[in-house]
Amino acid sequence: MAYKLSHITGNSYAFEGAVNIGMYHRGNGKCTLIDTGIDDDGGKRIINLLKVEKLEIDSIINTHSHADHIGGNSIIQKRLNCDIYATKIEGAIIENPIIEPLYLFSSTPPNFLKNKFLMAKSSKVTKIIEEDFLDIEGTKFEIVHLPGHSLDHIGVVSPDGVFYTGDAYLSKDILEKHGFPFYQDIGGALKSLDYLLDVKYPFYLPSHGILENNIEELIKTNKRTIVEIIDFILEELSQPRSTEELSQGIFHRYKINQTPSQYYLTWATLSAYLAYLNNRGDIEIKFYDNQLKWEVKDS
Ligand SMILES: [Zn+2]
Repeated sequence: MAYKLSHITGNSYAFEGAVNIGMYHRGNGKCTLIDTGIDDDGGKRIINLLKVEKLEIDSIINTHSHADHIGGNSIIQKRLNCDIYATKIEGAIIENPIIEPLYLFSSTPPNFLKNKFLMAKSSKVTKIIEEDFLDIEGTKFEIVHLPGHSLDHIGVVSPDGVFYTGDAYLSKDILEKHGFPFYQDIGGALKSLDYLLDVKYPFYLPSHGILENNIEELIKTNKRTIVEIIDFILEELSQPRSTEELSQGIFHRYKINQTPSQYYLTWATLSAYLAYLNNRGDIEIKFYDNQLKWEVKDS
């Protein structure tokens, strides 16, 4: 993957690529990365590009534990002995990456789910982020808890006001390409999107997408996507359907390319919607000849 180092403002930078990586120059030749991309090769490229700039990576903040955000951690930590900061649940997965394919499959995963897109190399989380700020040798980053896409997802705001938002929202063209974006907590996602509508920062950089100054319309589009999926599921469940049948309906409707990995990612997201609607009291489970089916609850 080719990376290009772009200056955003002040000491805030980004390596732009398929997965954007944030970089903050804290002074004295030291810098902090926000996420590390997908693999060793990308990590090596970041190390080399920063060597040219005479910058040493002494710390990494991970927005969440998905393999395409933490894949460079291992090689960077091995070579530079840097600190890694993450929230508690994401940190547990960063240290034990088998958990990602494990939760997707809900048991010991088959090897085809243990690929670099779903299972990164392990790295050591040196400090768990518990507060709404992170102080690295006097540089204060604001930590914004944005659950939804993953359980313990955060966004990171640099002292310059650059909000590295991870996967808390997706850009318009990615939403158009992936009409059924990955979520693990629908209630959390709706709250996080509402929060993003309420606050105002000078710059926003998502992991997948471009730098923007105003994301209001984009956040509304992200929210609308969730609401439309909820409506579709409720419509489908006007008659009893198994998760398998619902999943098939989603692959058809959102024209998702069927692969074994995509099947389990879609299944996990669908499960998040079903849990949300069940907890809200909208749908219930009934068994038909030992087959579990979901159905809109009689009012
Ligand atoms: Zn992600």
